[in-house]
Amino acid sequence: MNPNYLDELNERQREAVAHINGPLMIVAGAGSGKTKVLTTRIAHLMRNGVDSFNILALTFTNKAAREMKERVEKILGGSEARNLYIGTFHSVFARLLRAEAHRLGYPNDFTIYDTDDAKSVIKTIINEQNLDDKHYKPNFVYNRISAAKNSLMGPEEYQHDYYVQQEDMRGNRPMIGKIYEMYAKRCFKNGAMDFDDLLFKMYILLKQFPEVLHKYQHKFKYIMIDEYQDTNPAQYEIIKLLGAVHENICVVGDDAQSIYSFRGATIQNILQFEKDYEDVRVVKLEQNYRSTKSILNVANEVIAHNKGQIEKALWTNNMEGEKIKLVRTMTDNEEGKHVADTIAEQKLRNHYENRDFAILYRTNAQSRSFEESLRRKAIPYRIYGGISFYQRKEIKDFLAYLRITINTRDEESLKRIINYPVRGIGKTTIEKAVIYSNEHNITFWEVLERAREFGFKGGTLEAIDGFVTMIRSFQAIMDKHNAYDVAVQVGKSTNIVKELFNDKTTEGLARYENIQELLNSIKEFTETPTEDGELLDKSLGSYLQQITLLTDADQGDDENSDVVKLMTIHAAKGLEFPVVFSVGLEENLFPSTLSINTREELEEERRLFYVAITRAKSRLWLTYANSRYRFGSLVQNEPSRFLEEMPEQFIDRSYAGGGAMRNTFGGGGGLWNNGGGNNMFDRMQKKTPAAAASPAARPAPKPASAPASTHVPSPGFAPDDPALMETGMEVEHQKFGFGTILSMEGAPNNRIATVVFPKGGGEKKIMLNYARLMIV
Ligand code: ATP
Ligand code: MG
Repeated sequence: MNPNYLDELNERQREAVAHINGPLMIVAGAGSGKTKVLTTRIAHLMRNGVDSFNILALTFTNKAAREMKERVEKILGGSEARNLYIGTFHSVFARLLRAEAHRLGYPNDFTIYDTDDAKSVIKTIINEQNLDDKHYKPNFVYNRISAAKNSLMGPEEYQHDYYVQQEDMRGNRPMIGKIYEMYAKRCFKNGAMDFDDLLFKMYILLKQFPEVLHKYQHKFKYIMIDEYQDTNPAQYEIIKLLGAVHENICVVGDDAQSIYSFRGATIQNILQFEKDYEDVRVVKLEQNYRSTKSILNVANEVIAHNKGQIEKALWTNNMEGEKIKLVRTMTDNEEGKHVADTIAEQKLRNHYENRDFAILYRTNAQSRSFEESLRRKAIPYRIYGGISFYQRKEIKDFLAYLRITINTRDEESLKRIINYPVRGIGKTTIEKAVIYSNEHNITFWEVLERAREFGFKGGTLEAIDGFVTMIRSFQAIMDKHNAYDVAVQVGKSTNIVKELFNDKTTEGLARYENIQELLNSIKEFTETPTEDGELLDKSLGSYLQQITLLTDADQGDDENSDVVKLMTIHAAKGLEFPVVFSVGLEENLFPSTLSINTREELEEERRLFYVAITRAKSRLWLTYANSRYRFGSLVQNEPSRFLEEMPEQFIDRSYAGGGAMRNTFGGGGGLWNNGGGNNMFDRMQKKTPAAAASPAARPAPKPASAPASTHVPSPGFAPDDPALMETGMEVEHQKFGFGTILSMEGAPNNRIATVVFPKGGGEKKIMLNYARLMIV
């Protein structure tokens, strides 16, 4: 146990940690140590005799939960932290529901439908109802249903709610209520819950079963919630119910970082907290420990453009740091290239590792240009979010076998694999089986089990029987064997692994590798403690529950891997990185076209920008492109309006474009005083007309160069990596002095530069592996 953990805190933080009983709210700006306080408080409670079984801590990502657990373990130094319930709302509630779902008529091993599964069920219903799925877009309908559930509105209420109905009438989609009703029934029949159900059903469970409510109220004597500003009404009500007896609820949040109102979260939750409980202790934290002064100043000024913020004055003792780099490029590809080049350069110059960089964007689709340029420069990276591993077809197919083994009611999964790999069960057979299942009010699986009785014959009957027998064989081993053993058996019996192995196309190979990766991850699961600390439950059911709940930010997250991180700003919430690139700062992209119609929407986009800025510890780049491909065509964009809201004195503007580079020829060479900014591109770009127009781009006087033969190298002369050299760059040679690269040739590991040294004897060919140059 580390006895000095309180010493690491400031006065206010300590006050919050030391508050043990009664409601507590910490409202504070980004990077002020809210999460740190929450974590330390858990350890502090335990040191003061609170049983770890009685603590519940809820966060938004599994990554945050894991970090929290690790930090508590660090302070307490034991295995005590195991018993804590720390997790995301979804994972904790899924775990509780796994113990209680039977009360609601679900199997305790219910299936969890991810967004794709849910949309697929909705699409089926839309088609069954002969509605036009171009008008009733499954995605749209799904969002409506999701919003309803997050506001605790069931299908009945939905169809009777005046405002909701008005809205659907206005959109000319009066059938959504009906689809919702059918969707809810279908999920129930399939023994499945979607993500929103994990909250909604949890709420219903607590409301309808007082004994269950009582049990958990007494179990969770201390409740803590991070990022409280982003809780939606369902989460809010559940917390209220659970905390009603002991009222030991501690919430931390920042109204300026509320970025999920589209999912039904409301800042009101923060404002309401003081009214919900008597004697709420409110603590404000104002010192930021994360970012440099420059970064924080920009963040503060940007967010000040929003009306209706809780008054906070965030300050820091950290260094002033470098100015924020604002870079314009011609195209999105150049934006990608510029970021990759800058990363390579920063790694050399400031000794960063790949893991120190994050590229944050507004939408997942933006990742492409960064991926390409990082790949070209052989910089390892990882994308969080987007099409996730678990969304790939081959993975979903494989998982469908595992799901069916656990829960035969799951019709979605059953339909997915009944004829995969092909076994001669055709579309007509499936349609017939669906009809029988509806007519006799039994599950699809039961129809298959009783196929002969329902009149299936010949080859079809044989195929169905074979399939049923196979699934039963998996079920037969699942009680005695762990998830991995079952999965291996599935791979063998179904022939999936072999089939993919024999497919020698590139896609086939990739699929084969993905399945291997999946099997590896299942093995890993069986060999490490589960997220909630239970070492024992390595069953298939426990595995399936865990993977479905992996959020975008968690996928296969390996803290030890040295990679550049790419993710949306939403996924970056709560995280911090030494160097951040916030990219795509253009009108219509950020702020998004969809979010500029009302002040509220625009303010949410601004909060999102605030979140992006405040992820950075030391260095921040903001980039935007004049034009980019979107939805298949090239569009021109104005710079984001948010850029105009930043205080000029903390900004360094520059322009990165292929054409501009060439303009630097004969540009006079020399060093630029760039306020500590070491970025070579900044230095290059400041010489362009575009950059010259900007106030921050003023060159410092050029140092007087000594005659070539006696050239004295600049202090701190440090040759740069030959790979960084490019035509047009200004360089310094130890002997010949300053010059400009005219051309580059030679193999990548033996590059030769032709450089003109005005004072060092004119044009020379330099073998970079021997006589190395420094970029100036
Ligand atoms: P966000 O709003 O982004 O979620 P936060 O308020 O939760 O931020 P933390 O992530 O807890 O902030 O802390 C930000 C950084 O500051 C972390 O690196 C943390 O370790 C550090 N920090 C917090 N408090 C202190 C302190 N008293 N002394 C030194 N470092 C601190
Ligand atoms: Mg935090």
